Amino acid sequence: MSLPIVVIGGGLSGLYAAHLLEQAGQRVLLIEARERLGGRILSRGHADDRHRLDLGPSWFWPAMNPLVAGLVSTLGLDAFAQHTQGAAAIEGPDGQVHRQQVTWQQSPASYRIAGGMQRLIEGLQTRLEGKVHILTGTRVASLKLRPHAVELDLQDAFGAWTQQAAQVVLTIPPRLTAQDLQMEPTWPPQLVQQMRDTPSWMAGQAKFVAVYPRAFWREAGWSGTAMSHRGPLAEIHDASDASGETAALFGFVGATPAYRTGIGIGIGIGQDAVTRQALAQLQRIFGEQAGSPLWTAVQDWAEEPLTAAASDRQPLARHPLYDAGTVPQAWAQRLWLAGTERSANAGGYLEGALESAALAVQELLAQRSRTPGTNASEHERTLP
Ligand SMILES: Cc1cc2nc3c(=O)[nH]c(=O)nc-3n(C[C@H](O)[C@H](O)[C@H](O)COP(=O)(O)OP(=O)(O)OC[C@H]3O[C@@H](n4cnc5c(N)ncnc54)[C@H](O)[C@@H]3O)c2cc1C
Repeated sequence: MSLPIVVIGGGLSGLYAAHLLEQAGQRVLLIEARERLGGRILSRGHADDRHRLDLGPSWFWPAMNPLVAGLVSTLGLDAFAQHTQGAAAIEGPDGQVHRQQVTWQQSPASYRIAGGMQRLIEGLQTRLEGKVHILTGTRVASLKLRPHAVELDLQDAFGAWTQQAAQVVLTIPPRLTAQDLQMEPTWPPQLVQQMRDTPSWMAGQAKFVAVYPRAFWREAGWSGTAMSHRGPLAEIHDASDASGETAALFGFVGATPAYRTGIGIGIGIGQDAVTRQALAQLQRIFGEQAGSPLWTAVQDWAEEPLTAAASDRQPLARHPLYDAGTVPQAWAQRLWLAGTERSANAGGYLEGALESAALAVQELLAQRSRTPGTNASEHERTLP
């Protein structure tokens, strides 16, 4: 039997690559280190799965994200526009709140997915069921280039083992790749340094969500959008669902990962204190009722070693420039790079995760059709 193509990483990019490869008739094995699929996509519900809040990405922009919009439609998901009607709040460094009547329309409009962004992951997972073998809880530790295959050293709850791959699509962020994966033969130092210098988008961020019995801020004429120069939430938005059954606000925590988690300095304020401070801030901005949520959650991505490399815990001054990246010549017929940090057009975004996967799969399939010999079989293995 022929060796499988192995996709490393079960985030949006890896699942989409597996889906495209499977559709092209390839035998695919997807390997994910976490016990769950989705990577930076994570939606959690306070009551049930219908009303989940996004703790990773919330938005896509149909006017700019044709691949995400296409996938939403292919998977039959419902999308709705981000609620922006009403006044925006600006909180000054002294805690003074200024009301700004917004007369402009958000352009391009951002959309959310009913049931949470995780619907994208679940939709792809359903399509892969029975067709693609998916291993979760399995970490890839090294890639070794062999004459007719790539050998992967894997680690799961039971121990270490190896897997042969005809080809590999690697969707792990470049920084994590440089930090966590051993390559044999080793990659040139300059290439490894480029990977170390490529920030994983939003990996140092934390999100806070609070669910309420009613969207009381809307009743008072607020949209739920707020910008703060005081914090701890730097940017706040309405996170209610389309039906209004779940009323919620979310905010990006502006305080640094070191202040939040103590990573690097040993003492952080911790998630309980972030929650108390965030609720006090929401009260300052939207009034007393903001202090009595039904449910709150903090998701600190800087604390997730399968998202944030050590160097991702520094705040980013601006959106980095990303590119497709390169692999050493010796690996060119065996390894393709994907993941959002490998997209020159939409790097960092969901669209980039899909675009880079589509490009990698397209190039891999083209190479396979040009060089049938790269389709190695189990019995062809000539391991040292
Ligand atoms: C807080 C936050 C808000 C965001 N908001 C938006 C938004 O509104 N709109 C938008 O477009 N984008 C947003 N993004 C970015 C978006 O989430 C990413 O672009 C997208 O999810 C990246 O998908 P990916 O598959 O490329 O990477 P990932 O989701 O990071 O997937 C990589 C996978 O590789 C796995 N992995 C890591 N190491 C190993 C290993 N050694 N072995 C095996 N598996 C491994 C990880 O567990 C992970 O599942 C946001 C991100 C965050 C964190």
